[in-house]
Amino acid sequence: MQRNLTVAQAQDTILQAVFRLPPETVESASALGRVLAEDVRSTRILPPADCSAMDGYALRVADCAQASEGAPARLQVAFEVAAGGEAEVALEAGQAARIFTGAPVPPGADAVIMQEHVEAEAGGEAILVARPVEAGDHIRLAGEDLAHGDAVLAEGDLVRPTVAGLLASLGRTVVSVVRRPRVAILSSGDELVEPDAPIDGGRIVSSNSYTLAAMCREVGAEPYYLGIARDRPEDLEAHVRAALVADCIVTSAGVSVGDHDHVKDVFAKLGCEFVFWGVQLKPGHPMLFGRFPNGPAPGSPGPFLFGLPGNPVSAAVTFEQFVRPALRKMSGHSRVFRPTVSARLRTPLSKRPGRLNLVRVSLSVEDGEVWATSTGNQSSGVFRSMSDAQGLLVFPGPQSELEAGAEVTVQIIDDSFFAGGERGFEGV
Ligand code: AMP
Ligand code: MG
Repeated sequence: MQRNLTVAQAQDTILQAVFRLPPETVESASALGRVLAEDVRSTRILPPADCSAMDGYALRVADCAQASEGAPARLQVAFEVAAGGEAEVALEAGQAARIFTGAPVPPGADAVIMQEHVEAEAGGEAILVARPVEAGDHIRLAGEDLAHGDAVLAEGDLVRPTVAGLLASLGRTVVSVVRRPRVAILSSGDELVEPDAPIDGGRIVSSNSYTLAAMCREVGAEPYYLGIARDRPEDLEAHVRAALVADCIVTSAGVSVGDHDHVKDVFAKLGCEFVFWGVQLKPGHPMLFGRFPNGPAPGSPGPFLFGLPGNPVSAAVTFEQFVRPALRKMSGHSRVFRPTVSARLRTPLSKRPGRLNLVRVSLSVEDGEVWATSTGNQSSGVFRSMSDAQGLLVFPGPQSELEAGAEVTVQIIDDSFFAGGERGFEGV
């Protein structure tokens, strides 16, 4: 087992160990946010035929070649084609067809003229065209959007709303996507209770279970809550056994060196191999990563273990740094990290040189610059500093001072930071 890795080493180790989960077939209509596990080629032509882009008249360009204001061409309106209709009858010389947007262009016609650009005779039997028309005007060509055999989507693509529409256009009602990671969430501690229990006598609510389950859901994984294990090896073991069918087990607490920290022993007894313990990070130092080489099903590997610190701030920060990228990789994403931005520090910060600190900050944008302000008491016991945070400011290990105005890197942990409070462009 490796000890005290840097954040980068720990992330690299985890990302090398975890793998993309196998595919599953789901209904395309519910595939939003999933990653495709197949290449999708077009088996259709779109539009399926040459069709009109306007309401107007299909005509033959040759009939209007000499047309002018003084000598308009008079075309007989021979028939009508509506959207969804069929255009079987061919247009003959001197004829036009009334046509509507999306309707197939009849054989013989080589352009469409907008209805605003013609004069219809009373009764609608003929039109006067007072200008020459170019071949192809206002015609959407068959296959100009999708041709048969086009490589439309690739394995690894994210199903965004427009991808859902594209799949529908292709007639793909089901699609192969990467399976969602199933994450067992286990809390341990004799002091822990559920939110609706009284909190007298030193009890605290197992808030980590709720934070971590929500973080799983936010990243598209499926959490399932295993309840609270008491600080007894037998009870922990029973809970861990129930977790072995998962893709990942995320525990909080019990991985430091306290007398009641049985978590590591129980995992070792059940066949977990520890890969590393301890990260040079504050908050979040006593983080444990392991894997079960053998799962409950013969021949298949067992879950990965993320033993997070019990402290609610540390649990949330280590989930963000280590579990989240792993779950994204398992879900098939190629971009696994949170975005970072350059920001300026509002008020100075200091620490002892040593471990990398991730400082909880709120963010504001002024004159195009992002300003980061500490959310207050940075003790890892103060969860408000985390729940108020939009970002984690990177305070590098060797440094001890960051002055007001210093340029810093901030990892954005709240997607709504990127939402626009203002239009952002001139709406004229
Ligand atoms: P431990 O790692 O067991 O020493 O726990 C460190 C701190 O985290 C203690 O103050 C625990 O009460 C707290 N803690 C442990 N588990 C949870 C949990 N599931 N939810 C909230 N706080 C917790
Ligand atoms: Mg404990």
